[in-house]
Amino acid sequence: MDIRFYNTLTHRKERFEPIDAPNVYMYNCGPTVYDYAHIGNFRSFVFADVLRRFLELADYKVTQVMNITDVGHMTDDQLADGGGEDKMAAAAARLKESKKQGVALIDNPDDPYAVAEFFTKAFIEDAGKLGMKIADEYPAQMPRATDHVEKSMIPMIQALVKNDHAYVADDSAVYFSVQSFPEYGKLSGNSLDQLKGGAGGRVQGQHQVHKRHPADFLLWKPDATHLMKWDSPWGQGYPGWHIECSAMARATLGRDVIDIHTGGEDNIFPHHECEIAQSCGATGQSHFARFWLHSRFLLVEGEKMSKSKGNFHTVRDVLEGKVTGRRVDPAVLRFELLKGHYRSNINFTAKGLTDSASAVRRLREASVPDAEPAPVDHPDMLAFLEQLADDLNIAGALAVVFERMKKVDDELPGILKRVDDVLGVMQARGADGHLSDVQMFCQQLDAARGDKDFEKADGIRQQLIDAGYDVKTTKDGTVASKRLA
Ligand code: AMP
Ligand code: ZN
Repeated sequence: MDIRFYNTLTHRKERFEPIDAPNVYMYNCGPTVYDYAHIGNFRSFVFADVLRRFLELADYKVTQVMNITDVGHMTDDQLADGGGEDKMAAAAARLKESKKQGVALIDNPDDPYAVAEFFTKAFIEDAGKLGMKIADEYPAQMPRATDHVEKSMIPMIQALVKNDHAYVADDSAVYFSVQSFPEYGKLSGNSLDQLKGGAGGRVQGQHQVHKRHPADFLLWKPDATHLMKWDSPWGQGYPGWHIECSAMARATLGRDVIDIHTGGEDNIFPHHECEIAQSCGATGQSHFARFWLHSRFLLVEGEKMSKSKGNFHTVRDVLEGKVTGRRVDPAVLRFELLKGHYRSNINFTAKGLTDSASAVRRLREASVPDAEPAPVDHPDMLAFLEQLADDLNIAGALAVVFERMKKVDDELPGILKRVDDVLGVMQARGADGHLSDVQMFCQQLDAARGDKDFEKADGIRQQLIDAGYDVKTTKDGTVASKRLA
């Protein structure tokens, strides 16, 4: 199959071929665990999940790593240097303040490790509900930055200092020297002159006077007063944010050059630009990742959803009905986040969710839980895959599916079952994120009732009873629980 992805690095669609087929090594910039991730963040993460699932369906063996940032990510991360406060430290202070006011999410908000642990668990839970495969691979494929400071980041910084890509400045901090890496700016389309020109104002931060070039960025910050700190050859302190991903990708994927690196569009500069400089600087390779894929933002009323703007919704708020006034099935939210092309903005609206709910309902009604999945080379599957092979054209792929659903025949359930390897929406998920046929039956029952097809609803109800379940109707729909003997 001819797979093409739009590569931010080359500004065009390129034929995708992994370095070591059939293996694909992919790294996704993951969450900063200082708060609940919002559905904008999850747009980027679900995109990575769909990409992985598509590649698996196309017969590649994907090793996916998504990092958990629990150190060093500053509040002003549009500056290559960071700036502002460490997000984890800020979160600890915020939680401490809310505890004083009687709202305690965690018992010990003074401890940034406890804060990180709490929001990491919340993230895995949300990711599981949204059907992200990597949630099942936690913690193996989701390394924490704090576990890699000594193991991978300090050695990489040492290598960079050794080969003159980095230097210790007179403020004792370690900076990457952008002038040592002529390719710096290639990913984002910046030149060093432009970066220098833009170096007035806010960029003229605390580190400015000590650096050789205004665009040089921080690798290690000695600071013995910091909440999270480690011993290093440059004194007690903490690493910059960018080094985290370079070091962890290499350590966990075990390669100097990987196939795919993803993130949201705001990661292009400075984060990914800096990652390339660090990784290539340390390994001497001409590439860090062969393909750089970036998803566009999820918007609310035309604006980026972000924590700093305060216009964000968490997954749990949406699912619990706090956003639209109605509970939302996790699969519906997943569908809403994946149905638009990853290189277009998506606008989050209640109407969009309603449309997604009806799409998921139609898919579920036509599917049969224990159907045998259609072979990947079935003509309808090939049509579906061909759309996705064109830079993950999900709208085209969904059009193939909904068109195919007009013909109800024996093959349809098998096709839908196979299509769901990528979509991951047809089976309902329990509170723990795991699939449950019983819940799926309950949802089909509710759907049948909604369509006033009472005969079908009664049939499903009877099947559940025969299988040993008590079936109840609640305000949230049908609930089935195992009958006690
Ligand atoms: P953070 O936890 O802030 O490091 O963000 C995690 C990921 O979410 C990054 O890859 C961001 O690019 C991405 N992201 C942040 N806001 C949005 C948004 N509104 N829509 C899509 N992706 C986003
Ligand atoms: Zn990253």
